[in-house]
Amino acid sequence: MSDTSPKSDFIREIIADDLASGKHATTITRFPPEPNGYLHIGHAKSICLNFGIAGENAGSGAKCHLRFDDTNPEKEESEYVESIKTDVKWLGFDWGKDLYFASDYFQFFYDCAVHLIQQGKAYVEDDSAEEMRVKRGNLTTPGTRSKGAERSVEENLELFARMKAGEFKEGECVLRARIDMASSNMNMRDPVLYRIMHAEHHNTGNAWCIYPMYDFAHPLEDALEHITHSLCTLEFENHRPLYDWFIANCPVPSTPRQIEFARLNLTYTVMSKRKLLQLVQEGLVNGWDDPRLPTISGLRRRGYPAPAIRDFCKRIGLTKFNGTTDVALLEFEVRDFLNRNSPRRMAVLDPIRVVLENWSAEPLGHADIPNHPQNPDMGERKVPMAGEVWIEREDFMEDPPKKFYRLGPGRHVRLRGGHIIRCTSFEKDAAGNVTAIRAEILPGTVGADSPEGVECRAAIHWVDVATGVDAEVRLYDRLFSVENPDDAEGGFTSVLNPDSLKTATAKIEPSLATADAGFSCQFERVGYFISDNKDHQPGVKPVFNRTVALKDSWTKQAGR
Ligand code: ATP
Ligand code: MG
Repeated sequence: MSDTSPKSDFIREIIADDLASGKHATTITRFPPEPNGYLHIGHAKSICLNFGIAGENAGSGAKCHLRFDDTNPEKEESEYVESIKTDVKWLGFDWGKDLYFASDYFQFFYDCAVHLIQQGKAYVEDDSAEEMRVKRGNLTTPGTRSKGAERSVEENLELFARMKAGEFKEGECVLRARIDMASSNMNMRDPVLYRIMHAEHHNTGNAWCIYPMYDFAHPLEDALEHITHSLCTLEFENHRPLYDWFIANCPVPSTPRQIEFARLNLTYTVMSKRKLLQLVQEGLVNGWDDPRLPTISGLRRRGYPAPAIRDFCKRIGLTKFNGTTDVALLEFEVRDFLNRNSPRRMAVLDPIRVVLENWSAEPLGHADIPNHPQNPDMGERKVPMAGEVWIEREDFMEDPPKKFYRLGPGRHVRLRGGHIIRCTSFEKDAAGNVTAIRAEILPGTVGADSPEGVECRAAIHWVDVATGVDAEVRLYDRLFSVENPDDAEGGFTSVLNPDSLKTATAKIEPSLATADAGFSCQFERVGYFISDNKDHQPGVKPVFNRTVALKDSWTKQAGR
């Protein structure tokens, strides 16, 4: 059983203290994705944290905003906005009325910039990016300002208005904060606030040609929305003084506090949106929802249940140290959830035909098979059965060792929910492959113990030849063959696992063929599968994706 009790952590402790001391009457958090790609499992960590905190403090009126951080016109698309909403909802969270777009605040950002100029705390810079970089200095040398920094407030106000009016080309000038060119924190050395971009924005069209930088816009967005705790990943830790500087120096209505936590990294996985986009654009995977990707839409299509993803996020907890989590832990949560909750069905992935010679001695119309071994509430089903069945090729051995308890010449095995059978003979083709097996049923053994003198220790799954249906099964495995694809010498695309997708034609029991898309179950003794949410056509063309194998084969391989 998975531990789903809420765990505390350093962020929840800070929030509890702030509520106890009366610093805040309630807490408002936010999840602020940039709509420039699909969400991934790393985002799920942030979503579970921010929406989780709101849920845990709902009694005091806590909320979590969904805010699209859409201040960069060049990389953003509406398709991503829609996918992000779908994914947050699917993960089980609800922003209620609190859906915001940072681009709705463009005028406010502008007003804040004007305010800074009026206070002598911002100026228009006409150095190029390269000149600015050189003059910024380094850890041992303080930076120097350009002549532009000497301009009067009036000149700066006029130049900034002209930037906004579109009088300059991209890169001709920028607006910078005047903070401290000698700061030991490079982020404080007069950071850029605004740049010119003659680009159309998905929300504001061509209304603006100057766009705010992330570091400037983000604290203002938080303050405007009265966010109490602004939770972000560790790489923003040394941007925090800048965050606080903007809050202290701009006319904002509230004082949010930024707190950083370690981002989620997983073995055998790339997580950066840029790299995921590259995999999609170069056709190395089949779209953003390819079941091998760590995107939420990919995991959903793969059959990872939302509660298992939430349990995983709870289990990894929060720290202040960057590290990499073993992807086996995520697979463990998925397997654990599915083991408890998935109905069982039968499918044969590598079929071989068994003819039951004496079927007429005790023919069954069907076998009654429980849908779950431990949970009788899940009921049972009738699986059609007649004189010929498919079984898994690996459940037969021509010359089995002693401890092989399945089928072999003269040996017994039980057909799940049916008779014990004994193999009487088998046929081979010219290449020596077994092509068919002949067996006899032991009448009176359905639902009964082995008769005296018959050794039968195992039950195998099967599919009725007369009513079984062909299905495409997609056997997914890890997309990369090394633990840290980001570190691969030839780049992450050089270490793709060539076996990450194998397809096979399986025989499935008839109920599976008519299942709706998105039906998740265990193929008994094989693994967890889900009917594909795009290509599966009930009753016409069944397509199943392997969610996860029954056992972890990688840990064994790695010798751990
Ligand atoms: P990427 O680095 O993958 O491109 P990003 O940080 O640029 O992602 P955003 O859309 O800006 O993507 O992220 C939205 C929120 O999700 C941010 O608050 C960010 O800190 C958080 N987030 C992104 N990746 C992770 C991760 N791997 N682990 C935890 N939180 C993450
Ligand atoms: Mg980002």
